[in-house]
Amino acid sequence: MREEITPPREALAVLQKIEEAGGRAYLVGGCVRDALRGAAPKDWDLCSSLPARRIMELFGEKALPTGLKHGTVTVRAGAQSFEVTTFRIDGEYRDGRHPASVTFTPSLTEDLKRRDFTLNAMAWHPREGLTDPFGGENDLKAGLIRCVGEPEQRFREDGLRILRGLRFASQLGFALEEKTGRALLEERALLDRVSRERVRDELTKALCGEHIRPLLLEYREVFAQVIPEIRPMFDFDQHSPWHIYDVWTHTAAVVEAVPPEDPALRLAALLHDMGKPASFRLDESGRGHFPGHDRLGAEQAEGVLQGLRYDRGTTEAVTTLIRWHDTHPAPEEANLRRFLHRLGRERFFQLLTLMAADDRAKNEKSARGAAVYEKMRRMAEGILERGDCLSLGQLAVSGEDLIDLGIAPGPALGEVLGRLLDAVLADPALNRREILLKMAAKTPSD
Ligand code: ATP
Ligand code: MG
Repeated sequence: MREEITPPREALAVLQKIEEAGGRAYLVGGCVRDALRGAAPKDWDLCSSLPARRIMELFGEKALPTGLKHGTVTVRAGAQSFEVTTFRIDGEYRDGRHPASVTFTPSLTEDLKRRDFTLNAMAWHPREGLTDPFGGENDLKAGLIRCVGEPEQRFREDGLRILRGLRFASQLGFALEEKTGRALLEERALLDRVSRERVRDELTKALCGEHIRPLLLEYREVFAQVIPEIRPMFDFDQHSPWHIYDVWTHTAAVVEAVPPEDPALRLAALLHDMGKPASFRLDESGRGHFPGHDRLGAEQAEGVLQGLRYDRGTTEAVTTLIRWHDTHPAPEEANLRRFLHRLGRERFFQLLTLMAADDRAKNEKSARGAAVYEKMRRMAEGILERGDCLSLGQLAVSGEDLIDLGIAPGPALGEVLGRLLDAVLADPALNRREILLKMAAKTPSD
C-alpha cells in the first residue's frame, strides 16, 4: 500500500487556488482509492468547502457549470479537467434514484459519509495526508467492499449501489464484506427502481472487470434482477459429453476468458448461450442438442440490449457475434475470406476470440482444439496483408464493365457480381479483369 500520493501538478494548483481564496479542498473518492493501491487514477476529483458559484467566479473562463445543482463545477487546468464538488449531504432518496435534494455542508466528514463504500470515502490533502473516517484504507488492504454505514439503508437510498458493489469487486478482485454481501442479495429488487441507463453503465463496468467469474456465480440473482432472461440458464444441465458445466457455469467462464477491454465481447459472452434452454432437445440416446440456439439467442439478446438502452453499434456487434458463435469455420483460406467478407475484420476477429473462449470452457478435448482459432487469426491476418479481394469494391471489374457487356442493370447485374465475388473469394487468382469479363459473359448454366 502506498502512503504517498502524487497527483498531477495541475490538480494541486486547483487545490491551492481554492485555499488561497479561503476555502478548503481535498482530492477525494476513486482517485484516492486507486492511488493508494498503486494504480493510475482515471480522473482526479476534488471536493471543497466553497459553494459552486464561488468556484465559478474563482476560475472564470476555466470553469464549466457541469452539475451546479449538485455543487459540481469542472475546472480546466493545463490540458486536464478536474471536477470540483462542494461538500454535501445527500437528501432523502424518495424514489431510490436521485437525492430529492442536496444540502451543502462545511464538514468534510459529512461529505465522505454520503459516499457508497469505505474505499471510496477517503480524502487526501498534500499537507494533512489521508482523511479516512470509515476505515477505507484497512478495507483496501484486506480486499473488502464495505458500505459506509448500514448496507440496507444505503441500498434503499440508491439501489444502483448494489450493482456498484459488484462492479468494484469485479474490477479489484475484492470480496464483499459479509453484511454488505448479504444486503446486496436481499435488497436486489431495489434495482428495479433505478434507470436502465445507470444500470447499463454499472453492469458494463462489472462485466468488464478482471474478476467477474465468481461474482456471476455467487451473485447471479443480482444479475438476473437486471436481466431476468438469463435465469433459465442457471443450473441448466446440457446432457452433452462436450460440456462439463451447466449453461450458466460455462457462461461465467467464457465471460472472464474474453478480453476485459471489449464490452461488446463481454456482453456477447454473457448472452451467447441464452437461446439454449428454449431450444433444448433430448435424442433417443439421452443426449442434449440445441438446434438454432444461436439464431434464437441473437434475437433474445437484441431484446435484452434494447431494454438496457445499449447503443445500436453495441447491439449489432453482440447479436452478430451470438448469431455466428456456433459456426466453427474450417481453417481454410477460402472459407476465412468468406467470413471476412461477411463480417468485416473487427467482428471476425472478435468472433475468433469468442469461439476460442467458448471451446476452452467446454470439455478437455474441446479446449485442446481451441488452438485452431489462433491459427485462423494468423491466416486471416495473412489474407488481409496480401490484400486479397474481400468485397465487391475490390473486384477487378465494375458494374459498368458488366453493363458494357450487355448485362441489364438491376437484379441480374447484382447476381453476376455476386457470382464473380464468390469465385474470387474461393480463388483470389481469378481477380483479373480479362478473366472476370470472360466469366461474366457466360451464363451460370454454361
Ligand atoms: P471510476 O474510477 O470507475 O470512475 P469512481 O470511484 O471514481 O470510479 P464514480 O462513479 O466516478 O466512481 O464516482 C466518484 C465517487 O463518487 C465515488 O468514489 C464515490 O465516492 C461517490 N459515488 C459515486 N456514485 C455514488 C453513489 N451512487 N452513491 C454514493 N456515492 C457515490
Ligand atoms: Mg470517477
